[in-house]
Amino acid sequence: MRLTAGRTGIVCLIILLLCGGAARGQENAAVRLEVDLRDAAKRVYHSKMEFPVKPGPLTLVYPKWIPGEHSPTEAIVDATGLHFRGGGKEIAWRRDDVDLYAFRCTIPAGVTTLEVTLDYLLPAESGTAGVPSASARVAVLPWNLVVLYPDGTNSDEVKFAPSIRVPDGWKFATALQLLPGNRAEGAAEFETVSLTTLVDSPLLTGAFFKTYDLAPGQKTEHRLNIAADSSAATALTNEELQHMRQLVSEMEALFGARHYRHYDFLLALSDHLQPNGLEHHESSDNRAPERMWMDPDTLETLVDLLPHEYFHSWNGKYRRPAGLATRNYQEPMKGDLLWVYEGLTQYYGVMLGARSGFWTPGQLRETLAATAAYLNDRPGRTWRDLEDTAISAQLLYVRATAVRSAARGSVLAAVRGLLRRKHADLVGSGCDHPKRVKGTKIVGRVLPEISRNGPRSD
Ligand SMILES: [Zn+2]
Repeated sequence: MRLTAGRTGIVCLIILLLCGGAARGQENAAVRLEVDLRDAAKRVYHSKMEFPVKPGPLTLVYPKWIPGEHSPTEAIVDATGLHFRGGGKEIAWRRDDVDLYAFRCTIPAGVTTLEVTLDYLLPAESGTAGVPSASARVAVLPWNLVVLYPDGTNSDEVKFAPSIRVPDGWKFATALQLLPGNRAEGAAEFETVSLTTLVDSPLLTGAFFKTYDLAPGQKTEHRLNIAADSSAATALTNEELQHMRQLVSEMEALFGARHYRHYDFLLALSDHLQPNGLEHHESSDNRAPERMWMDPDTLETLVDLLPHEYFHSWNGKYRRPAGLATRNYQEPMKGDLLWVYEGLTQYYGVMLGARSGFWTPGQLRETLAATAAYLNDRPGRTWRDLEDTAISAQLLYVRATAVRSAARGSVLAAVRGLLRRKHADLVGSGCDHPKRVKGTKIVGRVLPEISRNGPRSD
């Protein structure tokens, strides 16, 4: 995640890992998931799930630790209208008294399918619980907002068969593969995927939508998908499009390999969403002001957004600090390597912003100098080390002052660490081409390769 103005208010909860009961042994049967976004303009997402079940106790949980958020999500506050049904009858559920993300029920004899419905009410503004994800003309769907899953299961093993309805005339994009077939306009079904991949593949939709090919003629497709509050806001100049294509080329030059089937930048441009970015394996969820491409000053402040989230596909998804590679979304994450995850990414975000042509070398140097000057007045480093700010991430990450200080410090730490390894030409004039980082030891530790979202053949 690229740090922006943060939310306030952290909920610290004790987690009890509850017995999965009837869910055991059923994790390979796909959960049918239907999400209706046609009320997005009214700030409501409707969701229906069908779980294959057996009679007996069952606990379903709402995803709590979302990769890239670095602290428990507060979105559950806005998950409402929860109903469990089976055999044509309502099934009573009860929230766990301590783990508020867990919902218990007992499946009656003879019931083989549990239907669960919920409505997600999108906040109109940030600062309450979750963040706004829709305007009247743009909507972003992080699937974790609208799903439950059997407690105690591995998110790599729980399968979902997702489908979507979007408002009439709206287009959409997601990293998920579409299934072929004729359907009503605005309806789509996607490949059956693990819960891990589902949560990692948000969907962007909007009334004004444009897709740019960032790698024309190449085997691995790269696209920039823009949904905006106006048609004019979706337009890139030829020069800006060339910079985006250069970004793709620079990243390949940097790593020397790609691990995804394709890559989709999802970019929501609306003044009604909170500017932010969230990394994913084959896509990124980027949100920025409507006039990002129309106002040079706005663009200059956002140059590192897309490179930052794109870099995370390698540093954060393909390779992930061990403490962040958890078995499911209820298991707490450990953030002691977070500033490798975020600091190194932030450094390469600004570096690649310049390498792609959005910034001149002089602008890059000014940015680095501003970061150094900013840190100069921050005394936090005098009483605790950088690692402590990372371990404390679930408390500090959304606290702007502390977090930004730590994040910026990590940028310089990353630069110094790389320079010590004789990569003296890394910064040179300010944006000389960095050495390839493939397989390198990053500040002394090799980030573990993880099973979830592992490498895919090109
Ligand atoms: Zn980040």
